[in-house]
Amino acid sequence: MTKGTKMSNEVENYPPSVRDYVRQHFASEDEALRGIGPAATAAGLPSISIGPEEGRYLQLTAEAIGARRALEIGTLGGYSGVWIARGLAPGGLLVTIEMDPRHADVARRSFERAGVADRTDIRVGRALEVLPSLESEPRFDLVFIDADKTEYPDYLDWALRLTRPGSVIAAHNVFRRGQVVAPSDDPQVEATREFNRRIAADPRLESTLLPLRDGMSFSVVRAG
Ligand code: SAH
Ligand code: MG
Repeated sequence: MTKGTKMSNEVENYPPSVRDYVRQHFASEDEALRGIGPAATAAGLPSISIGPEEGRYLQLTAEAIGARRALEIGTLGGYSGVWIARGLAPGGLLVTIEMDPRHADVARRSFERAGVADRTDIRVGRALEVLPSLESEPRFDLVFIDADKTEYPDYLDWALRLTRPGSVIAAHNVFRRGQVVAPSDDPQVEATREFNRRIAADPRLESTLLPLRDGMSFSVVRAG
């Protein structure tokens, strides 16, 4: 770790100076956000969270659509969750799914320190086992996908089932360090390619990929 703000070893598609410029002017972290990386590392969690500029993107997306209910698949230490929770409309709720109870414990503390414990609900379990239980709940306005890459196409099916026209679906790591356009047969890369193909072609979605760090997708669920 070279800087307090460095949260991950993921590739970036722009120079560190530009990244820092964006972070400094548009995505500054408060004490609570700054503390999550070190707390997660101390607890033995991997440094694979989103970066501040990606967090800001998620927060502003939530604000722009007036999101009240958000769903996250892959909580880790709660870093992305804090950004999303802070973008929710008053009375909003972030439901976030995490299979590792140790990660969930760290996230719970992160949410408390960030003052969003009252608007977050961590569901511990494997995503594909937890997602069916959400069908009986109100639809989600925003879904952020960031768990097992090989399951991205399945998460997309669930995201479509659990959203409504106008909802936004975002997914992390959609470039796989550029391997999505390389001759890789890694199952994670193949599943990410399938996810990208589907969000591009599915008539229920309008989508793009943003070159934020390792690639972030943005899809709007269409009306009708
Ligand atoms: N969104 C987080 C980072 C998530 S890292 C952030 O930016 O702060 C991916 C997380 O997904 C890890 O904590 C991992 O334990 C969890 N995960 C992986 N596979 C999963 C699965 N099948 N179901 C639920 N959680 C899973
Ligand atoms: Mg990720």
